[in-house]
Amino acid sequence: MSPSLLDVPSVREYLSRRLLCQVATEHKAVALTFDDGPHPRHTPWLLDMLTAKGLQATFFVVGRRVRRYRDILARTHAAGHEIGNHGDHHVPLSALPDALVARELKVCGKLVQDVTGERPRFMRPPMGWINDRMLKVVREHGYEPVIGSIHPQDSRQPGVEVILRRLRRRLEPGAIIILHDGGWRIGASRQQSLRAIDTFTDELLAQGYTFPTLSGLMALATNTKDPA
Ligand SMILES: [Zn+2]
Repeated sequence: MSPSLLDVPSVREYLSRRLLCQVATEHKAVALTFDDGPHPRHTPWLLDMLTAKGLQATFFVVGRRVRRYRDILARTHAAGHEIGNHGDHHVPLSALPDALVARELKVCGKLVQDVTGERPRFMRPPMGWINDRMLKVVREHGYEPVIGSIHPQDSRQPGVEVILRRLRRRLEPGAIIILHDGGWRIGASRQQSLRAIDTFTDELLAQGYTFPTLSGLMALATNTKDPA
């Protein structure tokens, strides 16, 4: 099993100097983020679970899926969750020329805005592939690029217990947790992801954690600019 990029300290440091990985906060709060949807079965299941527990999350959606499952995106937005831009085709943006990076951002952003009436604030580069050039294009288009701090590689389906162990190991206030409700193949199973997050959120609720959207987590950031 190859490590997550975020498990390599030097890579983590490189990333955290370039884009949002986690939020410095005293509050016991974490942001759950779900990538690659909307998915016709997994996303509704997840929305039911989040609503039943009173939790909020952020969904980084892919344009090609939004075109097919607009109603699920509309339902996600209506339930109070935040929607982020994850590109139109889920391709590595660092390998593309600026014009194609811009196209990926614009098409997904417009689809989301058409459905929700709101332009996404955050953008997550597909597969975490970044370079300074594409990050500049992302920012020029008005997006805050974000990766996260906990990446249990749930989409590789390593087993529910392995996903849970990885989530618990890196848990800390201000963490941004990367999980998947969708996938490149629509038939890909996300049962392990869904079972793991159901258990994990119960554990965190018992510890007194709250689950804001990504914007909500940013609002809880410790203000390091004001002297105490
Ligand atoms: Zn993705």
